[in-house]
Amino acid sequence: MSTYRAFEATGVHNLRLVERELLDPQPGHVRLRVEACGVCHTDVLAIEGLRADPSQPVVPGHEVVGVIDAVGAGVTAWQPGDRVGVGFLNGHCGQCEPCRRGDFVNCLDQPQTGTTTDGGYAEVVYARASGLVRVPDGLSAVDAAPLLCAGLTTFTALQQGHARAGSLVAVQGIGGLGHLALQYARSLGHRVAAVARGEEKEALARKLGADEYIDSTAVDPGEALRDLGGASIIVATATSGASMNPLVRGLAPNGTLVVVGAAPDPLTVSTPDLIFGTHAIVGSLTGSAVENEDNLAFSLAHGIRPSVEVVPFAQAMEGYERMLSGKARFRVVLDTAA
Ligand SMILES: [Zn+2]
Ligand SMILES: [Zn+2]
Repeated sequence: MSTYRAFEATGVHNLRLVERELLDPQPGHVRLRVEACGVCHTDVLAIEGLRADPSQPVVPGHEVVGVIDAVGAGVTAWQPGDRVGVGFLNGHCGQCEPCRRGDFVNCLDQPQTGTTTDGGYAEVVYARASGLVRVPDGLSAVDAAPLLCAGLTTFTALQQGHARAGSLVAVQGIGGLGHLALQYARSLGHRVAAVARGEEKEALARKLGADEYIDSTAVDPGEALRDLGGASIIVATATSGASMNPLVRGLAPNGTLVVVGAAPDPLTVSTPDLIFGTHAIVGSLTGSAVENEDNLAFSLAHGIRPSVEVVPFAQAMEGYERMLSGKARFRVVLDTAA
């Protein structure tokens, strides 16, 4: 095989299936045969033209699971046959100041898979060796793919503050991120509160690990959390700043609101709500490659799995549209190996 198929995004809302020539990986990079790729809301950056130059084609997708079939010069820790994942952060440079301080997530020279470098809506992907994640044998490709981004994002967020085993933590929003956050929170040993709109998600939330359910259309979720004693950590996944505002008052002393849902409107907070109780609000961006290996191992050990809708690779646009509709329960995954 000297070519492979890939979906290129150009302009706005336009995916085109192309044949590309198979090349040797660059130094420091590997080439993999894709088994599966998750469809994430962040794919809008590539597909809706929300990037530096939308006229340049880019292959979307940053929840990639595949098998290495070639390694570039200088790659010694990975071999053909290794089963690996590639997430949103494509691999740190090792040279910049944040890297030299061990802060690989904030590397100043790190491609973003599927946005600034080609991603997994393809049969073949090239990736920096420094960003690779070992995928354990016990995880299928379609289960592992969403864990590489949606899973890592919430697994890391739950560890952004100070939360003892048994302390109350809350997850706002029961969707692609939240349904995983509930499972991690339970397995990390917390008392778990789910915050969502309406009553229809209560049964599912409890099944996924929630001990408490708060309907934010019926009560003020901050007051409800305070009545439960206050949450050490609240992971906010909803794509609405306004919906996060009341949560700050639901934090326990020294509690942290961790924002992972990117919203079009600002989060507004009154200063006393931060000062009294020494509350914090922080953002969280996925995590490093080795944290992602921790995440996959933890998920395997605790039976944490995404709820997925599997779509054949050839129907990438349909899968993307399904994700955009908000109706998928809960993650869409392109099956490339089938
Ligand atoms: Zn993502
Ligand atoms: Zn760097």
